[in-house]
Amino acid sequence: MELVRLGKTELMVSKISFGALPIQSVDRDSAVRVVRYAYEHGMNFFDTARSYSTSEEDLGRALKGLGEKVIVATKAVYKDMDKFEKDYETSSNNLQRDYIDLFQFHIVNYREELDAILEKGGPYDYLLEEKKKGRIRHIGITSHRPSFMLEALKTGKFETVQVPFNYIETEPLDQLIPLARSLDIGIIVMKPVAGGVFTSNRMAISWILQHPGVVPIPGMCRIEEIDDNLQALNAAPGPADLQQLEADKEELGTAFCRRCDYCMPCPNNIEASFIVRSGMIFKRVGWDKMKESHIKAFSKGLSCTRCGDCQSRCPYELPLTELVIDESKNMLRKGIEQGLLTEAELQQKLKEAEVEED
Ligand code: SF4
Ligand code: SF4
Repeated sequence: MELVRLGKTELMVSKISFGALPIQSVDRDSAVRVVRYAYEHGMNFFDTARSYSTSEEDLGRALKGLGEKVIVATKAVYKDMDKFEKDYETSSNNLQRDYIDLFQFHIVNYREELDAILEKGGPYDYLLEEKKKGRIRHIGITSHRPSFMLEALKTGKFETVQVPFNYIETEPLDQLIPLARSLDIGIIVMKPVAGGVFTSNRMAISWILQHPGVVPIPGMCRIEEIDDNLQALNAAPGPADLQQLEADKEELGTAFCRRCDYCMPCPNNIEASFIVRSGMIFKRVGWDKMKESHIKAFSKGLSCTRCGDCQSRCPYELPLTELVIDESKNMLRKGIEQGLLTEAELQQKLKEAEVEED
């Protein structure tokens, strides 16, 4: 696969690279198989994070022994120095490499978070020392707020930036991508397929590839997803593709779930992330795919206490305290249409959960 220069890091990474968040959702053997398949099909850049549970460990296993043939990035959220150091050491051990190619500060969305990272003797200085020792090669930053990243990049401290960018979320095109290019900062794209909401991943990724020097890292955990995504290398999006992307964009608006699962778990065991995107899922796969187990999940959703725990962790600031109950009700009504419950049963569930009818 064609390689792309990742800004001033001088790392040469595959034009489509590998987002390793989803491998945490499959068993170890499958995760290793998928990562090896990606490598064998030309991907050489793999991005994970300390917060992706088993992802680092499985990536470490899959890439063991490949040395400089692969480039590995991970990231950690900074809350306090003790935890950060511990997370950093855990990542180093999990990845089973002599060094980490790129260590990124994870989800830096606000000024106070950036200030804390850059304070004297803080985590940035700590990583600089690790860089001197050769344990990491480059330092980057990630955020879900591209506009805020302008400030971060102007500090001159970061060699790469990672933000969401796709046909719907085009804000980085205005200022961030031009600024990063002018400063020779590598641009890594998270959410290139916006959590799988487009009619076709191939179309969505081929659109991103029209922007030179921008490296998409679609999340993958299945061989078919890799094959599908790789098709984006074959051709630029044609007029019909662009028309479809536009139609997808119009349908979705901007307030939609990207499947990142940062909002999970819910202290009350409600499947909040599934519930808020279930309308989108069943619309795609067919309402007849709804089952008893889904009805159970939506019924449980009615017991949401609106505590806001999930909402505070959603990087897209989706109003989950509203959405979880509203979508649960909507989906239960769809369940009635599918013959999975009756109107009387829905009314009973609403009464028990003390949820009002609309
Ligand atoms: S707002 Fe509802 S779904 Fe979210 S964490 Fe609280 S109880 Fe769970
Ligand atoms: S609701 Fe927010 S945090 Fe949860 S999966 Fe969707 S985008 Fe991610």
